[in-house]
Amino acid sequence: MDLNYTAEDLAFRDEVRTYLEANLPQDLQQKVLNHKRLSREDFVRWHKILAKQGWVATGWPAEYGGTGWTATQRHIFEEECARAGTPAILPFGVNMVAPVIMAFGNQTQKDYYLPRILSCEDWWCQGYSEPGSGSDLASLKTRAEREGDHYIVNGQKTWTTLAQHADMIFCLVRTDTGVRKQEGISFLLIDMKTPGITVRPIIMLDEDHEVNEVFFDNVKVPVENLIGEENKGWTYAKYLLGHERTNIAAVGRAKRELQFLKRIAAKHQKNGLPLIDDAVYASKVASLEVELMALEITVLRVISQDSGRPGPEASLLKIKGTEIQQRLTELMVEAVGPYGLPFDPAFLEGETEHSIVGDDDAAPLAPYYFNFRKTSIYGGSNEIQKNIITQMILGL
Ligand SMILES: Cc1cc2nc3c(=O)[nH]c(=O)nc-3n(C[C@H](O)[C@H](O)[C@H](O)COP(=O)(O)OP(=O)(O)OC[C@H]3O[C@@H](n4cnc5c(N)ncnc54)[C@H](O)[C@@H]3O)c2cc1C
Repeated sequence: MDLNYTAEDLAFRDEVRTYLEANLPQDLQQKVLNHKRLSREDFVRWHKILAKQGWVATGWPAEYGGTGWTATQRHIFEEECARAGTPAILPFGVNMVAPVIMAFGNQTQKDYYLPRILSCEDWWCQGYSEPGSGSDLASLKTRAEREGDHYIVNGQKTWTTLAQHADMIFCLVRTDTGVRKQEGISFLLIDMKTPGITVRPIIMLDEDHEVNEVFFDNVKVPVENLIGEENKGWTYAKYLLGHERTNIAAVGRAKRELQFLKRIAAKHQKNGLPLIDDAVYASKVASLEVELMALEITVLRVISQDSGRPGPEASLLKIKGTEIQQRLTELMVEAVGPYGLPFDPAFLEGETEHSIVGDDDAAPLAPYYFNFRKTSIYGGSNEIQKNIITQMILGL
């Protein structure tokens, strides 16, 4: 197995790097590199810039407007975006619902939704989890009852990321209660402007409005918004989850954050010396760096097999990637100590001055640390990923 990049890969990396240097707006880059919060407009702006270049849908086949890149090219692109500090392309449209529409949607759905996802005309959110149905997703209770050419949807979704901005939600709904729970689920696309939908914020530990509850009260959804066959939604849902976990290792971003960590650890002092020269702290950073290097090699090994379809190894990458991301934020907070404690939301939202003690690097780090507690929960909790590994990889 040769894990080195070819000459073509390196030329591609240079092309991406040059493009990003010329096209990534500095204000967006500064927000990302400095752990500030991104607005809806920030995400949409970057999406539209990449769309103009034809580089939004790196995992889509060319026939649908994707790049048609190999897994290695996609990896290089993600690495370069992370290195440069681009905003993320939000996954809900491009990486989640789009592959499901391509695989199981009809031609009308493909023709209508896919171009709108590419151009960011529709902002999508994910309506899977419900109170009491997270890990045990198949127990979901939101009902969709057929009445003529419509479904009437009643129930509640929760933890719905950025639903406050969304135009569309893809939902798992129960269409049959008299069968095994996995066999009575359907996959519906719902316009968020439909009467009867209420979005209520959930404010997280970092006081950010990132997730929501979404309530459905007699919401009328046209039957043509059903994906595939009624009661076959569990199959489509699982297909989507495989795609959800592919980029979750986020090695590129972790590499960038490791450099940031070393920089702040060189700036902050312990016993009159730079913290990075403290043997105990330096050994923590070194062991994290070793873990990250091992993860990077594992990602490259998975990519070199390029099965075209994410398998159970995505669970392994998810666990390791999120552990490393969380550890990075822990060491950042440890490095800045009490300077991480003050909390200034206006500074996080983009104000250039902050009114509190400490430097600009330190000010966003406590909310950043708190925010990253989510990574071992979302996308299927890390305990559930371990269950998948024991069953699908170890065969236990
Ligand atoms: C920030 C954030 C954003 C999210 N965004 C979305 C979104 O946009 N759309 C959406 O649909 N969902 C979203 N989620 C929901 C997420 O998918 C669920 O939180 C997750 O699946 C866990 O479900 P739960 O919260 O109901 O916890 P539970 O399933 O109740 O789990 C509680 C604890 O028990 C453990 N556990 C449960 N079952 C088992 C088992 N069989 N074996 C071992 N341990 C187990 C879990 O690991 C966890 O530690 C988001 C969550 C967060 C935190």
